[in-house]
Amino acid sequence: MQLLIATRNRDKLKEIAAILADLDLEVVSLADRKGLKEVVEDAPTVRDNAIKKAVETAKAAKMLTLADDTGLEVDALNGEPGVRSARYASEKASYHENNKKLLAALRGVQLEKRTAAFRCVVAIADENGLVDAVEGICNGLIIEDERGGGGFGYDPLFIPDGQVKTFGELSPDVKNRISHRAKALQKAWAVLSRHVREHGG
Ligand code: IMP
Repeated sequence: MQLLIATRNRDKLKEIAAILADLDLEVVSLADRKGLKEVVEDAPTVRDNAIKKAVETAKAAKMLTLADDTGLEVDALNGEPGVRSARYASEKASYHENNKKLLAALRGVQLEKRTAAFRCVVAIADENGLVDAVEGICNGLIIEDERGGGGFGYDPLFIPDGQVKTFGELSPDVKNRISHRAKALQKAWAVLSRHVREHGG
């Protein structure tokens, strides 16, 4: 069975492919399918963005498609940056620029008040429309300096609950077992297997 991942973000694709590696799926990405564009992420929530990306891409590609959208919700910032996580510092901000802006926004906030959660929504669609959307959440803390060169995005600033290292310091194996994306993809796998049983691959 072929599954199209609706992203050009290599970091994300690498994680999704690693998490789905044991499954009987051939994973292809937008980079493998010429003529398919990345969908504009202009919906008001990560859930709506994930659904929009999956549905529009599946229609254009006529393929079973999976899309993820993720936001970092920081309690002391009333859930910001949330759906704007990729564009927090500016429209084309780098990961480091977003991290700098987050640290500035939290300056003076004590460690125990720097609680946050990654929310990842994975949507699955085929050419007839949405199949299902599922969610994974990973709670943790935003520390005061970037630590570790692994992962991507806000990973060097985020210590998941139950760990002492940031996602940037933990191995990919550990991150891919406990992360928001791992949790959402585990649920997505149940949806995918049911869909394939009912409709064929
Ligand atoms: P997207 O809209 O789902 O592509 O992701 C929004 C932004 O959230 C990305 O640009 C990253 O900065 C951040 N992000 C997404 N997933 C992760 C993750 O697993 N770790 C750290 N940051 C992430």
